[in-house]
Amino acid sequence: MAPISDTANVLARHDLPGILAAINAEVRERFGEGRVADYIPMLGSVPVDRFGMALVALDGQVHCVGDAREPFSVQSVSKVHSLTLALEVAGAELWDRVGREPSGVPFNSLVQLEFEGGVPRNPLINSGALVVADVILSHYQRPREALLEFMRARSGNASVGVDREVFASEKQTGYRNTALVNFIRSFGNIHNDIDAVLDFYYAQCSLEMDCLDLARSVLFLADEGHCPVSGVGVTRPDRAKRINAVMLTCGTYDAAGDFAFHVGLPAKSGVGGGIVAVVPKVMSLCVWSPGLDTKGNSLLGGYALHRFTEMTGLSIF
Ligand code: GLU
Repeated sequence: MAPISDTANVLARHDLPGILAAINAEVRERFGEGRVADYIPMLGSVPVDRFGMALVALDGQVHCVGDAREPFSVQSVSKVHSLTLALEVAGAELWDRVGREPSGVPFNSLVQLEFEGGVPRNPLINSGALVVADVILSHYQRPREALLEFMRARSGNASVGVDREVFASEKQTGYRNTALVNFIRSFGNIHNDIDAVLDFYYAQCSLEMDCLDLARSVLFLADEGHCPVSGVGVTRPDRAKRINAVMLTCGTYDAAGDFAFHVGLPAKSGVGGGIVAVVPKVMSLCVWSPGLDTKGNSLLGGYALHRFTEMTGLSIF
């Protein structure tokens, strides 16, 4: 694999539209693999035979293939954005309330919290994201608007919004999230009203965006915290570095080791079938295919990223 320092040249060396077209063709041969998440009823009705991929490079190149412009439910991909917002207001103190170790257990598990005093393992699993939501609620006057504004500015798409049906579906069936937030609260690690925390969390999960929106929305992580889409500094370089680190080690549920092995990029997945990935100093990517593997990651999305890093040599390793 080429070291990242060579990647200005790597971009020029590769036929990126050709690579995306080849991956698209390969993935479509495998349609039907994986299962859509049906524990959230509204997600269960999404067709499994969809695949989109978008990449946005720091040199301005943008490439899309397949269903890259079809909006989908971002779900846990938004945990990257909420973490960024929380770090801006809480700084390093955030790490007193949430850890940064892989959990090794499913994303909505309760068991570790009992042993670890209500401090979630990391901000990219549900328990951690609920604490992050609590931090945001404590610091922002209008938290939901702040998140929406952030997503719209980062993606360059002013029409990004919450899918009301998915939101209602999550709220109605969020038994585990309700359990998690109450359990964490019992340890004193949630400070706001439980329903307000859950509502914020469901709103972030229910955002509807497409691959291009999402790829753009994390481009600041490829550029040391600077967002070329909006032209502003989103977060400090040291924070961008740490968000990338947490994505690499914790961003793909309890398959983060396997994902690093096969793909080797900081990434975050969601049960809507989206995965964002960052090639530091080069580009950001988003893939989407709703069929999930047993860990909750998009099966064909993960495969597409694997093939992309194989074909381009772009990986942090
Ligand atoms: N809204 C989902 C939940 O809370 C998000 C899960 C995910 O994408 O990891 O269960």
